[in-house]
Amino acid sequence: MTTKMFETRLLLLMTIAVFRTSIAVEPAQFDVIVVGGGLSGMTAAYELSKFKAHNITVLVLEAQNRLGGRAYTVELPGSNGTDGFDLGGQWVGRTQYYVMHMLNELGISTYAQYATGDKKQRMTQNGTISSFQGDGLRASLIGSGDVLKLFADIENLAKRVAPTEPMADAQAAEWNQMSVADYAQKAGWTRENRVSLDLICNILFNTKPEQISMLYFLMFLNSAGGGLDTLTRDDTHGANAFRITNGAQSLVEAMAKSVPEVRNFRQVTRVRTVNDHVEVETKEGDIKRARYVILAIPPNKAAEIRFQPPLSDEKAQLLRNFYPKGKGFKFVFTYATTWWRSKNLAGQVLSVAQM
Ligand SMILES: Cc1cc2nc3c(=O)[nH]c(=O)nc-3n(C[C@H](O)[C@H](O)[C@H](O)COP(=O)(O)OP(=O)(O)OC[C@H]3O[C@@H](n4cnc5c(N)ncnc54)[C@H](O)[C@@H]3O)c2cc1C
Repeated sequence: MTTKMFETRLLLLMTIAVFRTSIAVEPAQFDVIVVGGGLSGMTAAYELSKFKAHNITVLVLEAQNRLGGRAYTVELPGSNGTDGFDLGGQWVGRTQYYVMHMLNELGISTYAQYATGDKKQRMTQNGTISSFQGDGLRASLIGSGDVLKLFADIENLAKRVAPTEPMADAQAAEWNQMSVADYAQKAGWTRENRVSLDLICNILFNTKPEQISMLYFLMFLNSAGGGLDTLTRDDTHGANAFRITNGAQSLVEAMAKSVPEVRNFRQVTRVRTVNDHVEVETKEGDIKRARYVILAIPPNKAAEIRFQPPLSDEKAQLLRNFYPKGKGFKFVFTYATTWWRSKNLAGQVLSVAQM
């Protein structure tokens, strides 16, 4: 064999070897990879891990050094020693049927949010501070007939947008084309309407009515199981009725005890479909394979992942712009005693002042 022939054969062998590697079907290592260790991701992993008889293998990949995501409880020094404080989600209500069921199943206790007495509000930027009473914010927001009508109409529309089938209503496509502000403009954009909707959107989404799709808003209200009324009440029928005794993050941590494979510091950057499985790659360099992948991360975070084959332009654009990116700040004040209760104050303050 001449040197030339040998080189050619070697090249051919190498080519075949490379080709073989690229078509080799490596078996999936897990049945399911869950991306994101927040409430959604850990719920998915926890529920799948219950199917012990089927031996479903699950891996959770979480970007941060802790589980919980927006359920975030931190230990901080308070007036009476160190205590746990929720810097993310904190309230649960009776219409959050599934969360309430999970808390019960995992033996996690809750306590009622104290809401008795006067609440304080400042409804304009430089306005005076006044008191309001009652079950929730709604009575104080809806001062005028205009606002009352606007909110009654919105509540009725919300009943038509099922969270599981938001496009089913004949008007859904129209609502999908307009913001909450567009809708209110059409319905009569009075100053009171603007202030009330601004406040509602700020409380619920940390952003302005111009930023929120009307269809999403209606679906959100419906998914609260009682609309705006449920969302703005803080009595035992409202969304803010109870707090989790050891903080919201404790729910996620309790679920994690049933999920054997959880990896922190694993930010997923690429999801590639290869033959009958999906390959998931992290920024830290791991590549894991599974039969199915569940993305349990906010849509704008999913937009940062490289998908192979790529998502359609519409889907990629939807992920990037799906949810308005609001900004919120949370302050924690602690006092040695609950002095406000003896003064008939609920300890609740509402203000539209700009920061
Ligand atoms: C200040 C605040 C107050 C709130 N108050 C309430 C309340 O009182 N009641 C209520 O019901 N809800 C409340 N919420 C909303 C609630 O906290 C969220 O709806 C819920 O925690 C969302 O959970 P999730 O798992 O869907 O998303 P997330 O909690 O956002 O979890 C997503 C997880 O995915 C991880 N991740 C992101 N990208 C990647 C990646 N590429 N690879 C791997 N991991 C990744 C993130 O680190 C995160 O841990 C509040 C939220 C905030 C911010």
